[in-house]
Amino acid sequence: MVTTVAPAADEVRVVVAAVLDPEVPVLTIEDLGILRDVTLDDAGHVEVTITPTYSGCPAMDAITDDVMTALADHGFDDVGVRLVLAPAWTTDWMSDAGKQKLLDYGIAPPQPRGAGGVLVALSVRCPQCGSADTCELSRFGSTACKSLWVCTVCKEPFDHFKRI
Ligand SMILES: [Zn+2]
Repeated sequence: MVTTVAPAADEVRVVVAAVLDPEVPVLTIEDLGILRDVTLDDAGHVEVTITPTYSGCPAMDAITDDVMTALADHGFDDVGVRLVLAPAWTTDWMSDAGKQKLLDYGIAPPQPRGAGGVLVALSVRCPQCGSADTCELSRFGSTACKSLWVCTVCKEPFDHFKRI
């Protein structure tokens, strides 16, 4: 007897991992590092575990809806989305591919944590010209997750995905 459980579980995982973050539509929730687990049980129930990014980020409701919709499109309509708050998400969970996509999109990615977990006061590089000669205009950019910066070289304003 051939089991079909494993391929279905793989499909579920792929479908969920491809869901885009509503605030940064070039990043999938897997790029963002908020997708913790996807399971499919023998009864066909899908359980998706997500750790929210910034607390109170309104994107979570949209992500939950998008996960449900994506799975329903693939015939999985018995879905539970569970939010796990601990351990808390940090920008270190964002994949390198995700950081590169952010940069390509014109958003300065969060800086990496320094050796030993120490926060290093790195300057934020301009995603347009790469200059480190930038300054922060506002703690809050287009969303609470980002701050608004301007490059003093090319004068372009840009979003910086805040590091937490
Ligand atoms: Zn610049």
